[in-house]
Amino acid sequence: MVYLIKDIISHLESIAPPPYQESYDNSQLLVGNPDSPVEGILCALDVTEAVVEEAKSKGCNLIIAHHPILFKGLKSLTGKNYVERTVIKAIKEDIAIYAIHTNLDAVDQGVNQKIAKKIGLSETRILAPKKGVLTKLTTFIPKEKAGEVLQALYKAGAGNIGNYSHCSFQTEGQGSFLPMENAQPSIGSRGKEEMVTEKRVELMFPSHLQSKIIHELKVAHPYEEVAYYLHPLENEHQDVGSGMIGHLPEPLSGMDFLEHLKKSMGLQVLKHTAILDKKVSKVALCGGAGIFLLGRAIKSRADVFVTADVKYHDFFEADQQILLADIGHYESEIYTKELLKDLLSQKFSNIATYLTNIVTNPISYL
Ligand SMILES: [Zn+2]
Ligand SMILES: [Zn+2]
Repeated sequence: MVYLIKDIISHLESIAPPPYQESYDNSQLLVGNPDSPVEGILCALDVTEAVVEEAKSKGCNLIIAHHPILFKGLKSLTGKNYVERTVIKAIKEDIAIYAIHTNLDAVDQGVNQKIAKKIGLSETRILAPKKGVLTKLTTFIPKEKAGEVLQALYKAGAGNIGNYSHCSFQTEGQGSFLPMENAQPSIGSRGKEEMVTEKRVELMFPSHLQSKIIHELKVAHPYEEVAYYLHPLENEHQDVGSGMIGHLPEPLSGMDFLEHLKKSMGLQVLKHTAILDKKVSKVALCGGAGIFLLGRAIKSRADVFVTADVKYHDFFEADQQILLADIGHYESEIYTKELLKDLLSQKFSNIATYLTNIVTNPISYL
């Protein structure tokens, strides 16, 4: 079975849809032709010239990276900096680069879940769930066809709430219509007012699936004209958002937790605020630069907040309310390459998939 680059992308994007990326982000295929067959995949946190070289030596023509090498537009491509040199090298070697960044940070099974697993957290949930990404569909279906249409909607991705699928609300009533001159009614006849026992069905879906769901509704629904309403919701999407919070299997002292953190994340060094006189059992975390979630972590009664890229003055903000630990950006997200490899291996077991061996961390410790 030959897979194309676009097959790999569509699998990853079914897990971490691009609309969940932040506005400044650039998660997409950055270099390469989506219709090229995939010969091998190299998973990495960052792409550098050395990573492109490694992909070539391993026979990979696709690099899947967390951080996009291209963030802003290029007006020239001359090799004047590492970004341009990396892109030029990838083009010359015919190696595609795909980035899956803040959308992979935002989903429940993404970057933060990987960190939570490394630390050994259970009962995890999103720390700051995202709003404005859910829509409610209300539609009217002749009673005897309601089950069939609902199944099509569920299949298209509607009606999922947390650990539950097939979630809908149904009431029965009378629908009326009068088919006009050019109508092709499936029930009733032209020029005659009709009353039909219908079900009013309501269900939620992630907004980015809207066109697919409306398409499937129209395909499955028996009527020539399907009546439906769409309502954008203010509800939080509990499986999408920033950061994660979870519980340790047993409470640890602040110092024991930091030692455990160092060991489980393979850290050489970490920075932290004063150790508080209380046990740590609830852990909030965010891979990469997550200090914007500090208030949320405190409000959620987390005992510790683990993140990276924390500035001097930000450490003061912990203010004896929480133990704040900065474990380094690279170190916090390095296991994302394992996550990517696992997500790909589940679906594409016959494609050779590797983890980069290159340490792309630009920071060294002395
Ligand atoms: Zn990230
Ligand atoms: Zn990052």
